[in-house]
Amino acid sequence: MIDYHIHTRFSPDSKTTIEELLIEVKRKGIYNFCVTDHFEYTYVGDWLLENQFSPFVYANHLRDLGLIAGIELGWNGMVPIVDDFRNFDFVILSIHEWFVPLSEGQRSYQAYLQRVWSCIHHFDHFHVLGHLDFPRRYEPSFQPFGKELYGLVRDIFQRLIQTGKGVELNTKVYGNGKSEYGLPHPDIQMLALYREMGGTVITIGSDAHGLDAVGRHIQKGLRLLQDLGFRYLSTFNLPHRRWEMEPISRYIC
Ligand SMILES: [Zn+2]
Ligand SMILES: [Zn+2]
Repeated sequence: MIDYHIHTRFSPDSKTTIEELLIEVKRKGIYNFCVTDHFEYTYVGDWLLENQFSPFVYANHLRDLGLIAGIELGWNGMVPIVDDFRNFDFVILSIHEWFVPLSEGQRSYQAYLQRVWSCIHHFDHFHVLGHLDFPRRYEPSFQPFGKELYGLVRDIFQRLIQTGKGVELNTKVYGNGKSEYGLPHPDIQMLALYREMGGTVITIGSDAHGLDAVGRHIQKGLRLLQDLGFRYLSTFNLPHRRWEMEPISRYIC
């Protein structure tokens, strides 16, 4: 099993210790995983104040533990990024705000996508774009991104493909429960578009903020990728310190 998006107590919104996580992944048979704590360049709430580690020290700490040095770098495209993230094996670039109120529906989504587009043109030290259609999860009716926005989505995928970056399949809210959102990020139409455009670089992660969520919905996500025609996952070969493409089937159980 695999999970490339896990938070620990280095994130302001998780209490999991690395020691607890190591026991949990072993118990669940998740032998390929990546810790990706939040580091935010935004003005939202206390995030800036709560970035409680130096990225450099954190990367070395993970490496000393024999783990992949991962991070979820949150950016709003405005706060200058002053740290060097090239020291990380795996950087998920995530945009955690929207710039027009969600009550404005598609206009809000459009502003979000425009900001994502801008961010990936102004910052290069990342591997995958995190949870692309993130604001949809917070829109009260989970309104889908309109077809008129797919030109922008296409431009974002185009840029990622051209620059050798990838997309993260985030399974955090891919459950079927009554109150659950029930879709992955990006949603299925967007993933299909990425595939159709020739996108191949893709990682998968549960975005777990607690032990119970580690590995959650990953199997469902892997089967979705296969159904959409993806054959490989991007994984980091820790002993050889390089990225590889591994057959998705290897992680299906
Ligand atoms: Zn995130
Ligand atoms: Zn996350």
